[in-house]
Amino acid sequence: MEQNIYPTIRKIILTRMILVPFIPFILVLIIGYHFLTTTIETGTVSAMKRIAEDHRYMIESFLEERKKDLEFIGNSFTFQQLSQPAELHKVFKNLLKKSNAFVDLGVFNEEGVHVAYHGPYKLTGKVYKDEDWFKAVMQSGYYISDIFLGYRQVPHFVIAVAQEEKEKKWVIRATIDTFMFSNFVKKVCIGKTGEAYLVNPDGLLQTERRSGGNLMDKLEEKINYPKSEGDTSISVNVYSKGDKYLYMTTWLKDKKWLLIVRQEKSDAFSALSSATYLTILIIIIGGGIIIAVAFNLTGRVVRRMEKMDVEKDKLSQQLIGASRLAEIGEMSTGFAHEINNPLQIMKSEQALIEMILSELKESGKLAESDSLKEMEDSINQITLQISRCAKITQAILKFGRQGDPVPKDINLKKFIPEVIGMVAKKASVNGISIKQILSDTIPVIHCDPSQFQQVLINLFNNAMDAILERYGTSGGELTVEAGQKESNTVEILVRDNGDGISPENLKKIFSPFFTTKPVGKGTGLGLSVCYGIIDSMGGTMDAVSEKGTGATFIIHLPVAA
Ligand code: ADP
Repeated sequence: MEQNIYPTIRKIILTRMILVPFIPFILVLIIGYHFLTTTIETGTVSAMKRIAEDHRYMIESFLEERKKDLEFIGNSFTFQQLSQPAELHKVFKNLLKKSNAFVDLGVFNEEGVHVAYHGPYKLTGKVYKDEDWFKAVMQSGYYISDIFLGYRQVPHFVIAVAQEEKEKKWVIRATIDTFMFSNFVKKVCIGKTGEAYLVNPDGLLQTERRSGGNLMDKLEEKINYPKSEGDTSISVNVYSKGDKYLYMTTWLKDKKWLLIVRQEKSDAFSALSSATYLTILIIIIGGGIIIAVAFNLTGRVVRRMEKMDVEKDKLSQQLIGASRLAEIGEMSTGFAHEINNPLQIMKSEQALIEMILSELKESGKLAESDSLKEMEDSINQITLQISRCAKITQAILKFGRQGDPVPKDINLKKFIPEVIGMVAKKASVNGISIKQILSDTIPVIHCDPSQFQQVLINLFNNAMDAILERYGTSGGELTVEAGQKESNTVEILVRDNGDGISPENLKKIFSPFFTTKPVGKGTGLGLSVCYGIIDSMGGTMDAVSEKGTGATFIIHLPVAA
């Protein structure tokens, strides 16, 4: 049994059709995705780094300006002047015009006594000699404190500068509005979750944190402290609450405070997840299209192959049938030839018998009788049948003869009825009426009569097959028309009311081996041979039809010269 190979072929073609475009498609996507994500990542990180550094610069400038404000006061007024509360009040009011970041202003002598103070607390007279900030400012001339509670028990930080007058040092100190400073540091907007805050080297918050965290709170997360001033450290840390953050940390001048700018990783890299979703979408849609196209094309190719194989098988069957027909033709010509010789002998023997009988009758040796009459009838019948057989064998021999065509002038008015006569018996048996519409003035045509006869018989037989297909043995109608078409053309129409021909088949009927008839019945050679014959006669042959409405074959032949 022949194995069905199409499922395997289908599998092979399908796999290749999917893999061949899919592999480069995926490779291109992976490479594109890699470059896109790297660009997004580096772009995000460098944007955040730039924001952190700009912000650091702004905070440093702010603090530097406040220091300069105090130095300006120290240089413009004497210790004596500033020790006067009224004078200090005036100076403070002027200072506020410059920057409203100041909360209070105080003056300290060398012993750390708060000699004058302008601000919301009662701090005049308090002694700061042993306080760290006082010692630091006395030593280095300038000091910014961490956030601390101090005497007032409220988180705040101070800026202090030391002045020297007649070899005596004194200190001028101002408290910075922690709320305002906090807001100033906080005001960084990056995405939805971006924020900025300051911590001291011990990890205590120096400004409030937008996502939670009060002044002086100890931070829970592990902080990456950059090694040196001016460095910006980049890190991705998991905060204890479970969220992943992208951190930028950079020291403020003198490694005093650490500026932290951080953003939730998912927020910072949101473009990254959009790129991922987009890539997945492209893979799904692109992959879907590739698979759908592969399935569709494979289906078509395999169906085509199957059809071609079926046609090939049919063709070889028809070839076998056609060669068998040719053999039968050859054999029947041989038989006809063989039978023809005995027929000739029988004919001459029969003539001899007739001659002897008439001689006997003339000499009176054979008297007239009923028996003699019957014998003569039988002999006549034998003569008739012998000449019928001779005609049949002659016809077979004529058909089988493959000589060159011998063109003759043909009068269609006479020729067509003769050919119709050959199929009339078959038509009447099948209940088909044959109508002839032959113009009285059909010009003579010039062609081989036996070839033209072959064409007409083929058309009649096809028409009768189509009629039988549609009506069975009643209701069929075959019409043959002939007349002059133009001055030099004769038109012959063979029309039937049979099954008709579909537009698709109509394109193929003149192709060799095209047949819709079952194997053994049709060879598909008839019309292609007819077409060839008419073409060789310098004419044309065409057909018009629609399925279910019958068919008309149109032949145009040149008028004889
Ligand atoms: P065959 O008769 O052996 O099939 P032909 O070449 O004579 O080969 O005809 C080819 C095909 O054309 C037929 O199988 C049939 O389908 C179609 N055909 C020819 N003549 C007619 C007709 N008069 N009506 C309908 N179909 C026709």
